[in-house]
Amino acid sequence: MDCKEITYKLYEYIDRELGPDEVVEVEKHLHHCPECFELVRFESGVIKLVRRDCCKDQAPDALLRKIVSILRS
Ligand SMILES: [Zn+2]
Repeated sequence: MDCKEITYKLYEYIDRELGPDEVVEVEKHLHHCPECFELVRFESGVIKLVRRDCCKDQAPDALLRKIVSILRS
C-alpha cells in the first residue's frame, strides 16, 4: 500500500470500516511512513472535534424533529 492508497482509505480507517486485512496493510504503512502517520493523527483529531461540536450544538430532539419532518415529506 502506498501513500496515495492511504489517503483514499484514511476515513474508512479512522471510522474502522476497513476489513482486518486492510487495517493491517494501513498500519504496516503507517509504521514506516511518518507523513501518513501524521496525516491520520491530524485527520482523526479533526473528525473527533467536528463530531463532538456537532452533537454539542445540536439538541437531539431538534435533530429528531428534522428527521421526522424529512421522512414525512
Ligand atoms: Zn505514506
